Amino acid sequence: MQDYLEHYVCEESREEFARKTQYEVVLHEIRRQPIYSVVYRRNYMGKQQYFQVSFTSAGGMKNSDFIMGFKNVNDIVLSEREKNEKLTEALAAAEYTNHAKPQFLNNMSHDIRTPMNAIICFISLAASHIDNQEKVKEYLRKIGTSSEHLLPLINDVLDMSRIESGKVKIDEKPLHLPDLLHDIRTIIQPTITSKQLDFLIDTVDVSDEDVYADKLRLTQVLLNILGNGVKFNKTGGLVSLRVRQEKKAPKGCARYHFVIRDTGIGISKEFQEHIFESFSRAESATVSGIQGTGLGLAITKKIVDMMGGTITLKSEEGIGTEFDVCLTFRLTGERRVYQKVESLQGLRVLVGHLPEHLLYADGDRNALGVDGFRQRGGDPRQARHGNGR
Ligand code: ADP
Repeated sequence: MQDYLEHYVCEESREEFARKTQYEVVLHEIRRQPIYSVVYRRNYMGKQQYFQVSFTSAGGMKNSDFIMGFKNVNDIVLSEREKNEKLTEALAAAEYTNHAKPQFLNNMSHDIRTPMNAIICFISLAASHIDNQEKVKEYLRKIGTSSEHLLPLINDVLDMSRIESGKVKIDEKPLHLPDLLHDIRTIIQPTITSKQLDFLIDTVDVSDEDVYADKLRLTQVLLNILGNGVKFNKTGGLVSLRVRQEKKAPKGCARYHFVIRDTGIGISKEFQEHIFESFSRAESATVSGIQGTGLGLAITKKIVDMMGGTITLKSEEGIGTEFDVCLTFRLTGERRVYQKVESLQGLRVLVGHLPEHLLYADGDRNALGVDGFRQRGGDPRQARHGNGR
C-alpha cells in the first residue's frame, strides 16, 4: 500500500488516504458497515482522476480478512461537484433575492409615498384656496410634477415584475433600422433641447438596414441609456448614439453595436459593479436630487439578455460614460434601393469632427447617417473643424 501511495496517489490526497486506509482503521470500519470506501485523487494515464477504494470483510473467524477493490469514479465525482456548485449558486441567488426583496419594497414604498403625499397635500391646499386662481394654478402645477415622478416609477416597477414573472416576450417583426433611429431622435429631442445639449446619431459600416427585431423593446433599451446620458449630463454637454455593424455575424444575421456616449458626470468604478442591480443609484445621483428609480438599467439589462445580446460600459468620473449594446438580428433579406437625390449628387458634406465622432447632418432624417447619405448619392467626407465644403 505504501508503494501505491507514493507512486499513484496525488500529493493532495496522500495524507488522508494513508490515514483512512490504515489496517486498524479499515478493520474497525468493516466491522461496523458492509462496505467501507475512500475517495482520493490519483495519477491515471497522465491525468489526475478521482478513484475509490472499497473494502469489505472476507468473512473468517476474526473478521480480520478483507477484500479490496478500486474503481474510477472521476465522472461521478465531477458531475456531483457541478450539481453542488449549481445548488450553491441557486442558494446564493435565493438568499440575495430574499435580502433584496424587502429592500425593493422598502425603496418602492418610500419612493411612491413621497410624491403621493405631495399630491394629497396640494389637492387639499388647492381645495382650501379654491377662489384664488393663482394659488390653485401653482398647486396644480406641483401636483403635475409629483405625478410625473410617480408614473415612471410605477411603470418601471410594473415592467420589472412583468419581466421577472416571464410575461414579457421578445416580439420580432421586420424593422427598418433608420426608422428606429428616426423615432428615437424624435422622442429624445425635447429633453435634449430643454437641457441645452448636443445630440448626434451616426452609423458606421451599416450595410444591412432591414432586420427582424422587437422595435418596442429595442427602443426602450436605447431610450433608457440615452435618457441617463441626458439626465446625468451638464448643460452644453454631448450625447451621441452610434450604430456600427460588425463585419462578422452568423449566416443570415447581422450584428450591431449600439454605442451611447455622454459627456456627463461619469460613474465610479465601484458603482459600475452594481449598476445593473435593481434600485441601485449612485450617491452622486441621489445627493444631487436627480430623479430616478434605479430600475432603468436593471430592466435594460434584462431585455438585452432576453434578446441574446450583451451590454457593457466604460466610464470615467467627470469625463463621461459609454454604453455598448451588442445585438444580433436575423436579416429580412430585403434590400432597399435608394432613389438618388438629385440635389445630393456629388455633394460633399461635413458637419464637424469631434474625437472619434464623425458628425453629419442631412436635414430632417439625419438618423440615416453617413451610410444612408452615401446610398442616396452624397459624398460624406471627414474633415476637421468644419473644413468640409
Ligand atoms: P435611474 O436613472 O432611474 O436612477 P438607472 O437604473 O437607469 O436608474 O441608473 C442607475 C444609476 O446609475 C443612476 O441613478 C446613476 O447613479 C447611474 N447612471 C446610469 N447611467 C449613468 C450615466 N450615463 N452617467 C452617470 N451615471 C449614470
